[in-house]
Amino acid sequence: MPSTEERPRLGGESGEVVVVGGSAAGLYTAATVASGGRKVRVLESRPDFEPASRSLIVTDQFRTQLGTAASESIVNEIRRFELFTDGRSAQVVLARPDLIIERSRLIPALARSAQRAGAKLSFATRFLGLAPNGRGLRVEVDSAGQREELHADSVVGADGASSRVARSAGWPPVETVPLVQAIVRLPKDHPPDTTRVWFVPDDTPYFYWLIPESSERGALGIIGEEGRDTKKCLSRFLEKRQMEPLEWQGARIPVYRGWVPVRRRIGNGEVYLVGDAAAQVKVSTVGGIVTGLRGALGVGQSILRGGRNKELTALRRELATHWLIRRALHHFQQKDYSQLVDLLNVSTRESLGAINRDESTRLLWNVVCRQPRLVLLGLRGLLMGRSLKD
Ligand SMILES: Cc1cc2nc3c(=O)[nH]c(=O)nc-3n(C[C@H](O)[C@H](O)[C@H](O)COP(=O)(O)OP(=O)(O)OC[C@H]3O[C@@H](n4cnc5c(N)ncnc54)[C@H](O)[C@@H]3O)c2cc1C
Repeated sequence: MPSTEERPRLGGESGEVVVVGGSAAGLYTAATVASGGRKVRVLESRPDFEPASRSLIVTDQFRTQLGTAASESIVNEIRRFELFTDGRSAQVVLARPDLIIERSRLIPALARSAQRAGAKLSFATRFLGLAPNGRGLRVEVDSAGQREELHADSVVGADGASSRVARSAGWPPVETVPLVQAIVRLPKDHPPDTTRVWFVPDDTPYFYWLIPESSERGALGIIGEEGRDTKKCLSRFLEKRQMEPLEWQGARIPVYRGWVPVRRRIGNGEVYLVGDAAAQVKVSTVGGIVTGLRGALGVGQSILRGGRNKELTALRRELATHWLIRRALHHFQQKDYSQLVDLLNVSTRESLGAINRDESTRLLWNVVCRQPRLVLLGLRGLLMGRSLKD
């Protein structure tokens, strides 16, 4: 990237949109808004747009969303899921393969798209706070150790789960859960096009996964509820399977528990949230890339056109369905998971393979039409959750 882009003079111009956070959601928002002709500046606290490597699994909707930038980051394709619980297993063959993408390729590709659209990117620039300033918003930043102020009409918080923009503008904090994963050598019996998922309710209300990033390596991970316990469970799981962690990765992931309104008016300015900052994460599987990009597109369009936005309405519906699925599964005991795997008959597995989890309402409808007993199991899960809270 040109060095002039790395250390631009701050200051801010009239009508400028400042995006805080130069990761997936922020850079996609910047590209969308800049393509519509608005001045956009992205502030990123890291020293460059080349983050540490991390493999992520996404549905093929990602390809539709990003086109060329998507192709540059794909490192593997997943054609099959194998689900395990208590000695039982089921297999789901995907009609449209899931994609394994490499974040260290995705972020630079998105940064280039945002720059091509006209956005200016500022590295080593940390957002500190914002306040109304009559014309719009005064944004305070630390730019390579120097305090500076700039002006913006709109600020977009794309600064992740513990968003400082959200806090500065008065949004309540989003709840988070720990995600821990170890990079491991892929076991000899593990095909590189297959993701394995284990339901072990004694360890976690979520699940374990092993996602191959190549024919040699994969990411074995768990989402838990308490950080230290989650790491201990993963260590035990690895030990039982005699797998050596080559590298550890982890962070806190937002838990979607209801729509976070994405826009607030502060004085004469507007503040928006996108991606993890707005908990735009599928809480059934805790995947946030595709949904965060949808949030970014919706907010980008709202900034350009105003009014109600169809993308955000559809995203809200999507996230609500995942929240319903999570509530149904969250208090499942071993016998419920065993029953769930037993109930996945051929036609149910066909639906799971044909419709991806980013079209969850259609998926849920198709699955329950083909196996109505799943509705009873789901309802029991919902009631169990309620009775445990009472
Ligand atoms: C280990 C791990 C595995 C995951 N696996 C998957 C997966 O397989 N599939 C999937 O879909 N999702 C996965 N996720 C979730 C996914 O990575 C996130 O949902 C997604 O990256 C969120 O993107 P974002 O742009 O909203 O926020 P982030 O990626 O968190 O980016 C926030 C950006 O804001 C910057 N920033 C923060 N504060 C400031 C500040 N004050 N000033 C300036 N900049 C700031 C940060 O440096 C960062 O670049 C995983 C997450 C983790 C941690």
